[in-house]
Amino acid sequence: MRRIKIFDTTLRDGEQSPGASMNVDEKIQVAKQLKKLGVDIIEAGFPIASPGDFEAVNRISKEVKGIVVAGLCRARDEDIERAAEALKPAEQKRIHTFIATSDIHLKYKLRMDRDQVIQAAVKAVKKAKQYTDDVEFSAEDATRSDWDYLCKITEEVIKAGATTVNIPDTVGYTIPQEYGELIEYLMNKVPNIDKATISVHCHNDLGLAVANSLTAILKGAGQVECTINGIGERAGNAALEEIVMALKVRNDFFKADTGIVTQEIYRTSRLISKITGMVVQANKAIVGANAFAHEAGIHQDGVLKERTTYEIMRPEDIGIPSSKIVLGKHSGRHAFKKRLEELGFSLTEEEINRAFERFKKLADQKKYIFNEDIEALVSDEVLRIAEVYQLIDLEVASGTKKKPTATVKMKINGDEKEITVSGDGPVDSVYRAITELTGSKAELNKFEIKAITGGTDALGEVTVILEEGGHTVRGHGSDTDIIVASAKAYINALNKLALKNLKT
Ligand SMILES: [Zn+2]
Repeated sequence: MRRIKIFDTTLRDGEQSPGASMNVDEKIQVAKQLKKLGVDIIEAGFPIASPGDFEAVNRISKEVKGIVVAGLCRARDEDIERAAEALKPAEQKRIHTFIATSDIHLKYKLRMDRDQVIQAAVKAVKKAKQYTDDVEFSAEDATRSDWDYLCKITEEVIKAGATTVNIPDTVGYTIPQEYGELIEYLMNKVPNIDKATISVHCHNDLGLAVANSLTAILKGAGQVECTINGIGERAGNAALEEIVMALKVRNDFFKADTGIVTQEIYRTSRLISKITGMVVQANKAIVGANAFAHEAGIHQDGVLKERTTYEIMRPEDIGIPSSKIVLGKHSGRHAFKKRLEELGFSLTEEEINRAFERFKKLADQKKYIFNEDIEALVSDEVLRIAEVYQLIDLEVASGTKKKPTATVKMKINGDEKEITVSGDGPVDSVYRAITELTGSKAELNKFEIKAITGGTDALGEVTVILEEGGHTVRGHGSDTDIIVASAKAYINALNKLALKNLKT
């Protein structure tokens, strides 16, 4: 049985999804869950890109042990030095350096010729080698590069010490058969290929990222780069859960395995969705809400008689909680803490206390507390980012014959401010008030509201997308009162924008 390495890039490529930015504390949460999931390598960030990225890589290196932590860098000295610095505390570190190899990129982006690119790549690998033995080289835009040139550069970087060579489909251009042939070509033509692991990194622009990755595995790739829920640049990356479950369910065909603890997949997926605010589509393979739902009568009948008639895997294989036991007013701290663990949150005692306080408040407003409610309150209360803006109080008056008016009291950088404003509706009034108080110039691109669980006492969850100065952020907030949830979401997004502005 071949063992395929899983290189998770949710924290680097995944975070490049428009609006999916995570703060450092959120990244630590994700990294800890990825460790539990059993990924082999975590790509924690691009240290030279921003102080926030540096800090994330550095803290993950310090706080998450027993796993390889990778930092991305261009093929430049200063990038590599910065990555090495960030990775210093890691038990096992990998420096991942890249340069483009396609003629399009050479001509228009790098303005370098092929020999110069090989020299830069070799120099970068040698430099990285001074800090760690574990060096990965990526030939950016490999699938639009000349195959023989790709063989040449692969041979040279392996000679220089690269232990993993990645052949990314950066622009999501290739198709399974072609990609498989390219991997096979490299396996056959590069004389020292046995000294390195071939890695693949596919984007989903044509919806082929997973198919391409799986074909490459068949042809000899030993590492797959992927993200939870397939998030990433543009149409995203290959989805980790789809690759892993394809290898597991069709083990007879692939004869390859991973070290993933599949029972942690669902939890990880929910965590990423909560933290990034990127909702998983209901019909998404493996982790979508409908992935195990049988609607047609004939199917239901079949599954009841014999599960395998219509089910190729079981929900519990990916860790969908079988107990739907709801918590309520009388649930104690211990039961609550246990549920948090089951849901994949690794929180400090202080954070658990904060979450438990909020849970008690919620249990007064709402009879049954579902897993989704707990997830919402944790992401709301505990994973909160350093707050420039805080909501203190909110009062809204509206009705069929009344002009909607909102009074909002906020703490802004420590100062309390209050204002009363009217608008076209209660939410509009609240948003106008917040805009006036904060002086924000951000534009609201999207406003989405949904009930997390059933019933009129359900938590309402609001997601907003704000844009300012080229930055797009998502904010979310939840509350049994949808106007309060709307205010929280808006303020959450403003805090994220404030954080972005600090970073750049
Ligand atoms: Zn990518």
